[in-house]
Amino acid sequence: MIPLVLDLCRLTVVYAGRKLCDMFPCGKEEVDQAIQSAHAAYLKWSKMAGMERSRVMLEAARIIRERRDNIAKLEVINNGKSITEAQVDIDVSWQTIEYYAGMAGTLAGQHIQLPGGSFAYTRREPLGVCVGIGAWNYPFQVAVWKSAPALACGNAMVFKPSPFTPVTAVILAEIYKEAGVPDGLFNVVQGGAETGALLCNHPNVAKVSFTGSVPTGKKVMEMSAKTVKQVTLELGGKSPLIIFKDCELDNAVKGALMANFLTQGQVCCNGTRVYVQREILPKFLEEVVRKTKTIRIGDPLLETTRMGALITKQQLDKVLGFVSQAKKEGAKVLCGGDAFTPDDPKLKGGYFMSPCVLDNCRDDMTCVKEEIFGPVMSVLPFDTEEEVLMRANNTTFGLASGVFTRDISRAHRVAENLQAGTCFINNYNISPVEVPFGGYKQSGFGKENGQVTIEYYSQLKTVVVEMGDVDDYFNN
Ligand code: NAD
Repeated sequence: MIPLVLDLCRLTVVYAGRKLCDMFPCGKEEVDQAIQSAHAAYLKWSKMAGMERSRVMLEAARIIRERRDNIAKLEVINNGKSITEAQVDIDVSWQTIEYYAGMAGTLAGQHIQLPGGSFAYTRREPLGVCVGIGAWNYPFQVAVWKSAPALACGNAMVFKPSPFTPVTAVILAEIYKEAGVPDGLFNVVQGGAETGALLCNHPNVAKVSFTGSVPTGKKVMEMSAKTVKQVTLELGGKSPLIIFKDCELDNAVKGALMANFLTQGQVCCNGTRVYVQREILPKFLEEVVRKTKTIRIGDPLLETTRMGALITKQQLDKVLGFVSQAKKEGAKVLCGGDAFTPDDPKLKGGYFMSPCVLDNCRDDMTCVKEEIFGPVMSVLPFDTEEEVLMRANNTTFGLASGVFTRDISRAHRVAENLQAGTCFINNYNISPVEVPFGGYKQSGFGKENGQVTIEYYSQLKTVVVEMGDVDDYFNN
């Protein structure tokens, strides 16, 4: 895998030494055009019955399901993750569109009775043109997680993928069009920070749903505030995974791998601070290292590969930098943590890295405090539940968390006391569309997935109906 090489003035997309395409970042004129055409499409789409929108969306889901393997291959080229993971992403995507298609026909308000036969009712209405801005780790899936609820509610969306993964959002746009959405309803604009800023500052945008890092999320919120746009922020994390001595150890070890090495460790909700109760620490480390060493790294297009390439050279260097900093601060590398060159000559230029387990970690180390966004697991011992909860919550992030224990009361007590938007009990990184996903604290606000996301892509209008006469208050 030679991941995409991008020159931001002209997005030149290169895979395995071959140029795939050139793309040009969109400027003010293109952004204006995209928003204008999205608005024209919105005027048609929002007047359609929910059931009509549902039928079009179901057709889009059907097409994605039919082309699943092809889209997954393109996603591998786009991003560098393994084909098996990319296939799951595409499955999650068509399921998401089906789920919100099912909801499109159910959107409704409330009828409220008032004295004297008067009444009020609420209408659930779309917001208008919504903007989606995506990160590069789940390019197709993020575009779907944002567009499916937006479209189900009657909105239009202008989506900007990360400049590192510009390809598959365009495929999604083509599929929506083929399924029958009005022209311009889902528009893709390409580019980086400048294009993103044009979208966030645009007066005709009603909402921005952003997935990315905390510093960029803060900027998006600031820009959106100028015209009081609604904002959903899905930001970074440094999530704790707590493993108690009464756990099913084999499951806890598998859970720790799921929590750290999916998509080469480039997953926002990864449980990268792995707190292990001291009594089982030696056994846990032995097992986790044994399993980590057998992870197959290499050609992401092979079904047997479990880890592909990191997204860019810059990202690889950053992650390797975290490992050397950890060593300087006293951590011990139990395995991995190096750049990796697969035997296959066509993969020589790729940004591969061996998955890393760090022992001797302390809460004050950089590798434990900062989001690494690469395949690096930091293991920390703990003694008591009270102590580990305090340490787990001692962070400005709050995206996710996990606990492994056989004690059912402890599991729910820990879930209640962890300050995070999600807590996985006896598993990790399970995100079906039916389940809301989103952060606490600086990991953001607003949710994706689940019924609740309808709230984030619609607004309630109240209509009050008088059945009698207006009170003569001013002349009495
Ligand atoms: P990033 O913040 O660098 O970029 C995210 C997106 O914002 C990109 O499309 C980028 O072009 C755009 N952007 C950059 N500057 C901008 C600006 N000034 N105005 C508007 N848009 C701008 O993040 P990244 O490196 O692409 O992704 C990694 C980060 O995303 C990690 O922190 C990760 O945890 C987070 N993430 C969060 C979730 C979640 O659901 N919570 C999911 C995936 C990734």
